[in-house]
Amino acid sequence: MVHGRDLAYNSKVEGNVVMTTLDASINWMRKNSLWPMPMGLACCAIELMAASCARFDIARFGAEVMRFSPRQSDLLIVAGTVTYKMALSAKRIWDQMPEPKWCIAMGACASSGGMYRSYAVLQGIDRILPVDVYISGCPPRPEALLEGLMRLQNKIMQSHSLEEQKKLPPLNERVAA
Ligand code: SF4
Repeated sequence: MVHGRDLAYNSKVEGNVVMTTLDASINWMRKNSLWPMPMGLACCAIELMAASCARFDIARFGAEVMRFSPRQSDLLIVAGTVTYKMALSAKRIWDQMPEPKWCIAMGACASSGGMYRSYAVLQGIDRILPVDVYISGCPPRPEALLEGLMRLQNKIMQSHSLEEQKKLPPLNERVAA
């Protein structure tokens, strides 16, 4: 009979063996291979671009594969002022991204409308889609984005990947829709 304490060290299974749970391994893969969809809408986008260059090197976190197709992305980074005109496009892009997906609101404008308390500006992207991480600043520095990315990675590690996976309808219903 094998006891739990035997699993920590057992000479019969030593070598290149790692024990973990399925949830933890799926979350670990997801958090280290995020493919961002950069939604650059104003000045914050410049800092987003800087984060992906060599000095800050977002590749250290596995998130350098910026994709301009929502169907290939699982992380929407909203960077900039969200006008009502652009809000519809942002929502459509979010809807086109497959599950599981996450969203970072980068900067004051994306988080709350910032200084633009105006008839033309949405007062935070969270009015139309769920935000996982908010980053303060006007603009936030690239380090702040990387810190936000690490906070998102922690959040992903806490999730129950299998239970929370949205169930898709049967294929024939999807084709008919
Ligand atoms: S938060 Fe500041 S830097 Fe970022 S988009 Fe708004 S005004 Fe520009």
